[in-house]
Amino acid sequence: MNTPTLSELEAQATKAKSAFGADAHIVCDNLVRIYKTEGVEVVALQGLDLLIQKGELIAVVGASGSGKSTLLNVLSGLDVPTAGLARVAGMDLLAMTAKDRLRYRREVVGFIWQQTARNLLPYLSARENVELPMKLAGKARKDRAAQLLELLGVGYCAARKPAEMSGGEQQRVAIAVALSNSPQLVLADEPTGELDSETSEEVFEALRRANRELGVTVVIVTHDALVSEQVDRTVGIRDGRTSSETLRRAGAEGEIIAEEYAVLDRVGRLQLPRDFMNALHLERRVRLELESDHIGVWPAREEPSDEH
Ligand code: ADP
Ligand code: MG
Repeated sequence: MNTPTLSELEAQATKAKSAFGADAHIVCDNLVRIYKTEGVEVVALQGLDLLIQKGELIAVVGASGSGKSTLLNVLSGLDVPTAGLARVAGMDLLAMTAKDRLRYRREVVGFIWQQTARNLLPYLSARENVELPMKLAGKARKDRAAQLLELLGVGYCAARKPAEMSGGEQQRVAIAVALSNSPQLVLADEPTGELDSETSEEVFEALRRANRELGVTVVIVTHDALVSEQVDRTVGIRDGRTSSETLRRAGAEGEIIAEEYAVLDRVGRLQLPRDFMNALHLERRVRLELESDHIGVWPAREEPSDEH
């Protein structure tokens, strides 16, 4: 047998890599992000796997500190992960040149921050705010700003400055800003974190409309678990890893059924819900039994403790 040439090996490696969610719009494969500050290491993402298809509307939920913002910063091209694979629309976010990264951030992805003040320039009107990213990219389109504001239900705010709008109106204008260069992907980090529930609902509706009418993929980060009622799929993050998914579907009578799943990674690891573990006092090790159509998980048999 011939020894494979270097280029054949390379081709094989690329093929093996692309096997995991090759056609997905967003691929995170074993994503790791370690922050080092003054000698202390914080592992914000510890081998996170996530696939998102084009045109999906998903929510990422998790407690504070679980790694949600870190994930969004990676996907937005603001931050570079320590290891793993992150690919959006076929672009490798770890291997990008500075020039490609700039283009990616201007044209491929749109971002909405929690802090309303961070999304809009205070001295520009809503329309001017929406026009600004188009001008920076050198492709101003005359009526696009007005159309986007109209689509998101804030057409009447076009001439107003941020100080003359409510928090919810500002966030909906911020969505228009994020959409101005026709991105493929919109990321929102706790976009309703500073809003009351009624106003939040309007902002979610605006994101849903952007997703539906423009076909843009939308990823919303939130610590509000109730958001799962507003989106197709909810991905739960715990300790820097995806741990659960809730899928929403219509039942036989048109009712909405939400089903929660645990996420199984490629080597077979899964995370048990904390309340299940507490209910049965599961810790350190469990007994597994394979049945014909499920796997049983039992607390380990009582053994003399070796720790005390
Ligand atoms: P979330 O958005 O879910 O609240 P983050 O992604 O902001 O979580 O943070 C995940 C973990 O990483 C936390 O422990 C946080 O303290 C840490 N972290 C986030 N950003 C930094 C940073 N720039 N430097 C050091 N540690 C950070
Ligand atoms: Mg955060």
